[in-house]
Amino acid sequence: MEEDTIVLYAAPGMGHIISMVELGKLILNRYPEKFSITILYTCGSVVDTPSIPAYIHRISLAHPSISFHQFPRVQNENKSLIGRSGAAIMFDFIRRNDPHVRLALQEISKSSAIRAFIIDLFCSSALPMAKELGIPTYYFYTSGAAALAAFLYFPYIGEQSTKSFKDLTETVLEFPGFKSPLKAPHMPEPMLDRDDPSYWDMLYFCSHLPKSNGIIANTFEELEPPAVLKAIAGGLCVPDAPTPPVFCIGPLIAEEKQSGDAAEAEVCLSWLDKQPSRSVLFLCFGSRGSFSGAQLKEMADGLEKSGQRFLWVVKKPPLDEKTKQVHGVDDFDLEGLLPEGFLERTRDRGLVVKSWAPQVAVLKKESVAGFVTHCGWNSVLEAVIAGVPMVAWPLYSEQHMNRSVLVKEMEMAIAVEQREEDGFVFGDELERRVRELMESEKGRELRERSRKMGEMALAAWGESGSSTRNLVNFVNSIT
Ligand code: UDP
Repeated sequence: MEEDTIVLYAAPGMGHIISMVELGKLILNRYPEKFSITILYTCGSVVDTPSIPAYIHRISLAHPSISFHQFPRVQNENKSLIGRSGAAIMFDFIRRNDPHVRLALQEISKSSAIRAFIIDLFCSSALPMAKELGIPTYYFYTSGAAALAAFLYFPYIGEQSTKSFKDLTETVLEFPGFKSPLKAPHMPEPMLDRDDPSYWDMLYFCSHLPKSNGIIANTFEELEPPAVLKAIAGGLCVPDAPTPPVFCIGPLIAEEKQSGDAAEAEVCLSWLDKQPSRSVLFLCFGSRGSFSGAQLKEMADGLEKSGQRFLWVVKKPPLDEKTKQVHGVDDFDLEGLLPEGFLERTRDRGLVVKSWAPQVAVLKKESVAGFVTHCGWNSVLEAVIAGVPMVAWPLYSEQHMNRSVLVKEMEMAIAVEQREEDGFVFGDELERRVRELMESEKGRELRERSRKMGEMALAAWGESGSSTRNLVNFVNSIT
């Protein structure tokens, strides 16, 4: 008898591959005998790292029902894109893998029945091809429902003006189900500039979301604002076509991370073990978030004045400050970046680590009481599961959308006020928000709400929980 298989297609980069692996593991966990999983991934992108082959090897050994299919190398350069954004170059790279996707699907179909093809948003160009081959195609959307609503609605917002969002500094955008509007320049950066191909790529991706058979989202229903879920299900986000079903199957938390040194991780965890219960503020800004020297000094000042205990992950400043991102974990002179004497003066109550901390384990420590985060969706889910309230400091991608719902609707975070033009945060402002989270009645309420949400996250995975039900519904829809 032909084997039933589900094919997943990961966008380039370790983080995207990890997400697909976690989804595959989740399906196999519930349906160990029913399916095999094949994960397609690219070769030759600028974000490929040496850790990828080792990771894939480990997963293949530990989970024999998951197999990997790497495409032949595709050149990463396209001369017509010189001078364009990194996102545009990446999206073009993914598109140039399309012939390999087709071949892979045809090859796999010879020996197995492909029950579903699940793709990353950035791999949308594979959707029409899979449909042509008669394969039901789903998205795995790795952020929350608010960002999904905004992405579904983006093509309609885009039609309302001919100007780029980056230039619409006085404009706010209304999205179905959102309590408060979003400033146009706070849209994800590949959507900001119509003169960059990435804008049109994002438009293509988002307008293909409704053409899929369904969207699997890494969130859980109880976490999401009911109005947002209702707006999506009621078709308000896609006014002129049916909205496919959305399956909230999260929170999926990756067991394995992209980098990190075991010895340094141990330093953080044992330091936390020595701190009093619920006393430490954790500051960490995702796998890439980084700040200029001037911003780091303000942060240090704010932390010092707050009088709070803290564990602070500092990355090397970005080459281009506007991006607020660095890639890789190169060494740098930490002490030289911070105010003189700061490390010495805060030695008894603070630990500053370079580049990386074991975030999932940190957030679960009893001594951790708050989390200053860039609102990356994985970080949000990890804080939710650990029941830790947040100070929201968005930097890039869809993080401003996440901030908006976290603060205004989920009520699990306090926002820092950021300078309009560049997102800069002054030390006094950080001090104020940190004190609010750690010392005030409002902070106590947020902590209580976060604790309850952590319990709801666990319940979503119970036998009668919402995420279990949605996973079953998804599998029923493909079999
Ligand atoms: N992470 C970590 N230690 C760090 C920085 C990040 O373990 O010092 C992990 C974090 O736990 C999360 C991921 O990296 O799982 C970051 O994902 P997120 O979606 O929050 O942000 P992104 O890196 O995509 O901006």
